[in-house]
Amino acid sequence: MALLRIGSILTNIFHEKKSRTDAAKRIIQPRPEPAGLEITTRIGCRNLCDYCPQETLIKAYRCRSAEMILSLAAFRAVVNKLPPHVRIHFSGMCEPWLNPDCTEMVLHAHSQGRKIRVFTTLAGMRPKDVSRLRAVAFDVFWVHLTSGSGLQNMSVDENYLHVLKMLHERKIPTDYVYYGDALHPEIAAILNNEARKETLCSRAGNLKHIGPPGNFPRRRGRIGCLRQLRQNVLLPNGDVVLCCMDYGVKHRLGNLMIDAYADLFESHEFQRVKTGMENPTIDILCRTCDFFAFEKEK
Ligand code: SF4
Ligand code: SF4
Repeated sequence: MALLRIGSILTNIFHEKKSRTDAAKRIIQPRPEPAGLEITTRIGCRNLCDYCPQETLIKAYRCRSAEMILSLAAFRAVVNKLPPHVRIHFSGMCEPWLNPDCTEMVLHAHSQGRKIRVFTTLAGMRPKDVSRLRAVAFDVFWVHLTSGSGLQNMSVDENYLHVLKMLHERKIPTDYVYYGDALHPEIAAILNNEARKETLCSRAGNLKHIGPPGNFPRRRGRIGCLRQLRQNVLLPNGDVVLCCMDYGVKHRLGNLMIDAYADLFESHEFQRVKTGMENPTIDILCRTCDFFAFEKEK
């Protein structure tokens, strides 16, 4: 889903990318990432990317709630509860702009002085959204582009190309990434080699066709999370799950319609995850996380 704008942010991102590489070697010295809450603006992403466990999410979420779209009122209520240091990420488990209120949510968060990160495919975004978003100094704005190898179900139509051209004219500083072998040719023609290829992950084992055969091996011993367990994901009914790997809603920390932000980290489930990072006999998602988990030195 970008040119980054601020030196310190650039350093953070480079650090994260380096850390991912190091995590693959399995021993690293992490530096804390800032806390963030990823916003899932709806359940059911029509992009149906080949590298996304949408079915797993829909099945798990439907057992708990029929609230498929995050309302603007609910979003505002959640923002009111977040401590000032918590960044708001428009990413989550669905393309954010598939909710028509997404731009309004971004502008509300901005009006509250929040640091904002965006990870979008542009699906659902309109030229008027780009014009309105220009008022925001984004911490990060990533565009995940459509590949030329059919990995996504996104249409590269007139609206899409118009929005992309607006961004490319630097109306918003943007970082462009893609997965797969090549970019869609019409996108490549606009971006002039500015996009970079990114690596896919198995979503901590939620995708069986990505990663080594038989899936990523379980990490042993004491482990840690490069995100310090503090990049959690909001779902439309207010539930918060551990992170963007948790498509199966395995680790539900609480509900921000009811609970305070601090309560999430006092919850039984959060404490179980923390204990599980020290004790490999406890079944937690982090044991199979191929991007952000690392093994601690003994
Ligand atoms: S756009 Fe994002 S959330 Fe939607 S299917 Fe693709 S990876 Fe999943
Ligand atoms: S699965 Fe665990 S280690 Fe991986 S990002 Fe989520 S919380 Fe961090």
